[in-house]
Amino acid sequence: MAKERTPEPWSALLEAGLADGRLVSEAREGPGRATLTEAPAELHPQVLAALERIGITRLYSHQAEAVRAAWAGPTIITTGTASGKSMCFNLPTLDVLSRDARARALYVYPTKALAQDQARALAQFGLTKRVRPAIYDGDTPREARAQIRRDANVVLTNPDMLHLGILPNHAAWSELFANLAVVVLDEAHVYRGVFGSHVANVLRRLRRIAAAYGTAPRFLLTSATIANPLELAERLTGLERVRLIAHDGSPTPARRMAVWNPPLSDETLGTRRSPLAEAAGLLASLVREGARTICFIKSRKAVELLSRLVKDALAPTHAELAELIVPYRAGYTPQQRRELEARLVRGELRAVITTDALELGIDIGELDAAVVVTFPGTVASLRQMWGRAGRRGRGLALYLAGEDALDQFFCRHPEDFLERPVEAAILDHESPEIFRAHLLCAAHEGPLSSADADYFGPRWETHAEHLLSAGELRRRPGYSAPRAPSGDPGERRGAGERRAPRSYVPRRPGGYPAADVSLRSASADVFAIVDVSSGELLGSTEAARAHATVHEGAVYMHLGQAYEVRELDLERRRALVAPSSGDTYTQPKRLTETAIVRLLDRREPPGTTLSFGEVTVTDTVLGYERKRFSDHAQLELVSLELPPTSFSTQALWFELDAELAATIPLETLLGALHATEHAQIAVLPLIAMCDRWDIGGLSTNFHAQTGAPTIFIYDAHAGGIGIARAAFARFEELCLDAARLIAECPCADGCPSCVQSPKCGNLNEPLSKAGARLLLERMLRARPCEGAVGALNASADC
Ligand SMILES: [Zn+2]
Ligand SMILES: [Zn+2]
Repeated sequence: MAKERTPEPWSALLEAGLADGRLVSEAREGPGRATLTEAPAELHPQVLAALERIGITRLYSHQAEAVRAAWAGPTIITTGTASGKSMCFNLPTLDVLSRDARARALYVYPTKALAQDQARALAQFGLTKRVRPAIYDGDTPREARAQIRRDANVVLTNPDMLHLGILPNHAAWSELFANLAVVVLDEAHVYRGVFGSHVANVLRRLRRIAAAYGTAPRFLLTSATIANPLELAERLTGLERVRLIAHDGSPTPARRMAVWNPPLSDETLGTRRSPLAEAAGLLASLVREGARTICFIKSRKAVELLSRLVKDALAPTHAELAELIVPYRAGYTPQQRRELEARLVRGELRAVITTDALELGIDIGELDAAVVVTFPGTVASLRQMWGRAGRRGRGLALYLAGEDALDQFFCRHPEDFLERPVEAAILDHESPEIFRAHLLCAAHEGPLSSADADYFGPRWETHAEHLLSAGELRRRPGYSAPRAPSGDPGERRGAGERRAPRSYVPRRPGGYPAADVSLRSASADVFAIVDVSSGELLGSTEAARAHATVHEGAVYMHLGQAYEVRELDLERRRALVAPSSGDTYTQPKRLTETAIVRLLDRREPPGTTLSFGEVTVTDTVLGYERKRFSDHAQLELVSLELPPTSFSTQALWFELDAELAATIPLETLLGALHATEHAQIAVLPLIAMCDRWDIGGLSTNFHAQTGAPTIFIYDAHAGGIGIARAAFARFEELCLDAARLIAECPCADGCPSCVQSPKCGNLNEPLSKAGARLLLERMLRARPCEGAVGALNASADC
C-alpha cells in the first residue's frame, strides 16, 4: 500500500540520471481527458445493442468520426497506440453485415497473431448470428477451408495468403468477391519499402478481381502515426480522396518521456557503457520500485542476456522479484505466448523483455513503464513502443541510446528528436521487377486490358509489353466494331457497337506465377534459407544480396535468433543454416562498382552536380570478418571465392566540381568522400522510413563515367523502391544532418557513432572524419545567402 502513495516509482531514478548527465532530456505529455460522444444513431440497432451489452455507452470522438467517414469513402485512422482503433473499422463492418446478410468483409493483418487477436475482438460483440469471422492463413486446416469460403462473412488473412491462395483461386472465392463490402488493412504502416511495394500491387489485384465480380469494396486502414498517412493509404490502395482520422479522442496518461545515454567510458574512442548493462540497472530499479515494465530490445540474444542481467541484479536483495522477470520473443509456441500475455494482463509479472514481437497492437493490458533499448529504426516505431506506457493515469517512456550514429545523434538533439515529425512511409508499386511480377499474376487471374489502367496506372501496358518480349505474356488482338467483321461472339460485348480492347494473356495458362513471388523480396530471383537442424524454411533473400548476407560462415539473424551459414549452394540457390549461440557476428568485405545506365533528373546544389537515375550495381564478396558480439573485437578474417553479382536499381550521385575537390587535400580525399557517404547513409532514415540496410553506397575519387570524385547512394533492392528518389529531393537536408552528425560527435577520428558503418564493404577503410567535415561544410557554405537554390530551413552560415 505504501507504494500506492509514492507519486511516481521512477522519480528517484530520473533525478539521479539528471544529476549525473545520463538523463539527456525529458518531456511530459498529458494527462488528456477523453472526448466522448454518442455512437452514431444511424448504426444498425443490433450493433448499438451489442455495444450496450459489452458495456460501451459512449465512443471516443475519433471512433464516431471514423464510422461516419467510413460510410462516406475510403478512410485511414492514425490515432495513438491504445486508442481503440479496431472499433473504428469494426463498427462500420458490423453495421454492413447486420444490414446485408450476403455482405462479406476481408481483414488483412501483417501477422497471424494479430489476426487471432482481432478474431477474438470481433467475437466479443456477441453478434454470432450475423457475424461469422474465420481466420484463413497458412495454418488453416485443408478440411476447414471450403467451409470458410462458403460460410465466413469476415475472413481474416494476411497479404501473403491473399496473394498466393485467394486471388489466384478467385473462382473458388466467388461468394466473397461478389459480396465484398469492406476491406480492412490494419497496421498499414508496416506495408512500406519492398513489402509495401508488393502489398500495393496485391491490393490493386484485389480491387480488380472484386470489380470483375461486380463489387467495389470500401477500404478502411489504420496506421501508427507517420508523416504521410494519406499518401500511404493512396499509394497502397491506388484509391484517391481517402479520408484521414487523426484527432485522438482517447484519454492520455500523464507520461514522462526520457532520453537516456549510457555514460562515456572512453572519450577519444567515443565508447560508452554498454546499453545492455545500463538497461539492466534501469530495469532492476523500476521493478524494485513497483513499476510494471516492458522493455524492447532488438535481438533474441539480447533479450536473453538482458533478462539474465536483470535477474542477477535483483537476486541478492529481491529474490522474489527476480522470478517475475520474463523474456518474451518470437519462437514461443502460440500457447506459451498466450500464457505469458495472460500473466502480464493479470499483473502477475513485473517486467517483460521482448524483441519487437510485441510492438504491433496485441492486447497485453496496461503497463507503467516502457523502456526502449537502442533506436528501433524509426521514430514512428519508437512512439508506438512508448505508447505502451501508462497505467492508472501515469507512465514512463524511456529511450536508452546505443552507440550507433543515429542513437547518438538523437542524444545530442533530444528536443529536436522528441518533437520531430515521424518519418514518411515510402513505397513504389511501379518498382519494375515487383510491378511486372504482379502484372503477370494478374494476367493469370484474368486477361489484362485497357480497363486495367484504373488499377495499375497509366504505364501498365509498357510493362506488359516487357513481359510480352520476355515470353511471359501473349497479345490477344483487339478488334473494332462495327466496321470489323463480327469476331468471336464470346468476346464481344454489347451488340457489336463497342470497341473490344486488345488484351494480354499468359503464354503458359497453366502456370502459377504467384508461387514465384515472395512479398518480402524485391526480385523473384531468391535464395531459400533452410534451417538444417529442423528442415524448416526460414525465409528467402534476394539473389543479389545472397552472397553478402548468407555466404558460408555468415551469421544470419532471423526473428532475433542467430544462425550460422553452413553452406551456400549457388547451384540450387539456397543457404543451409543452423542455430548458433549469437556470440559473434560477421561483416562481409566486398568490392562494389556502379555503372550509370540512365539519367532521370539533375540539379546543381553548390559545389556539386547532383543526379538521379538508374544504375547497375556490381558486387563481389571477397571475404568476411567475424567479430565478437559483446565488444566488437575482430576474431578472424576469412576470404571467400564468389562470383560477382549485379542488379539494377535507382541511385542519386553527386560529383564534386573541380574547385571544391581542390580544397580537400588529395591524400584525404577518398577518406573524406567515404566518411561523407557513411554519414549521409546513417541519417537518411530520418527522411525516408527505412533501415540503413535498405541503402547502399559507393564513393570513389574518380568515376569513369562522371570523370570526377563521386558519391553514389542507392536503393539496395533491385529496381528501387523510392528511397534514393526521396534523398535526391531532400539532398540539402541530408547534407545538413550528416554535417551535424560528424561535427558534433565528441570522438577524435571517427567512431561507430558518426562515420563508421556496421555494414561497410571496405571494413571502414579509409575514413577521414576531418575531411568529411570539411567537405560537407564547404558544400553547405557554398550555398548562396539569398535566392531559392537549395533553400534550407536552418540559418545559413554565410
Ligand atoms: Zn564519432
Ligand atoms: Zn564504406
